[in-house]
Amino acid sequence: MIIAMRADATPEEIQGIIDKITEVGMQALNLPGGDRTVIGVASSIPADMREPLTELMLSLPGVDHVAQVSRTYKLASREFHAADTVVDVKGIKIGGREVVVMAGPCAVESREQLLAAAQAVKEAGGRILRGGAFKPRTSPYAFQGLGLEGLKLLREVGAQTGLATVTEVLDHHDVEAVMAHADILQIGARNMHNFPLLVAVGKASRPVLLKRGPSATIDEWLLSAEYILSEGNPSVILCERGVHPLDRTYTRNTLDLSAISVIKEVSHLPVIIDPSHATGSWRYVPAMSRAAIAAGADGLLVEVHPDPKQALCDGPQALKPEVFARLMDDVRRIAAVIGRG
Ligand code: PEP
Ligand code: MN
Repeated sequence: MIIAMRADATPEEIQGIIDKITEVGMQALNLPGGDRTVIGVASSIPADMREPLTELMLSLPGVDHVAQVSRTYKLASREFHAADTVVDVKGIKIGGREVVVMAGPCAVESREQLLAAAQAVKEAGGRILRGGAFKPRTSPYAFQGLGLEGLKLLREVGAQTGLATVTEVLDHHDVEAVMAHADILQIGARNMHNFPLLVAVGKASRPVLLKRGPSATIDEWLLSAEYILSEGNPSVILCERGVHPLDRTYTRNTLDLSAISVIKEVSHLPVIIDPSHATGSWRYVPAMSRAAIAAGADGLLVEVHPDPKQALCDGPQALKPEVFARLMDDVRRIAAVIGRG
């Protein structure tokens, strides 16, 4: 349920509504908007209480109207927050007019490797450098990332090239360290259901890039976003990276492009596409990227490596710098056609 206050409602009237909701044992969310305040009831309301609660709210001063919310997520829903959220990362606006491309290697391997990738990303027009320091690998014997050393290199190379940075935080104990070194905290697909980690990044003062779990429904994904938002962090960027496939013969996952349209309808949060993990093959990355931008994605997260054959992680899906540069030309052309150039 949402209670929309009149534009001239006083702070006392707004507080009166919040107190009343709390008094009946429910959680109130105060959502100040541009021209009016909306108060949400976060708790699920038993069917037999819906009508009396609506009547009660309508009888209180300052209330304009009451509407029922159909979604289980609240703060992430468009019903609660009509305007698009624009996440600001060092002046780069994600979810606004610009299509923002984040790119770089799967893992930070060395200063030389990261710098070469970052220079390629920068020259081609990418805005944000990606690079994993803590790698969630399927096998415990695979390269696990450089850890703190990787974070330091990411920060150094980001500063040197003037790119903002994004990197995965795997464990809630590492949030502070990752925050000290990177501009965006990435929650990987495997961790979308890691609730203590979501709570920890919800308390952090950095935007969060939240990947969709490979078997997660859109509602589950948005409920994970809700964990972050409800802790007070409003800057969540959703990232679709492919869902569990029917057939792994040709692609690693199945890119759910329709998620872009669904998210734009039901949520106000920006949504980007990771075509690299979605397909697992560099050959399919340019086409899926073009399709994502045409479909209205706010940006891309793409793996780029100066020498994919030597990559310690995800080489087969990494773009060479020259392929990435061509892709960026295409992205700019498509963005211009859809009025986002
Ligand atoms: C990544 O982007 O580095 C990554 C591990 O991706 P995902 O969590 O989508 O598998
Ligand atoms: Mn990867």
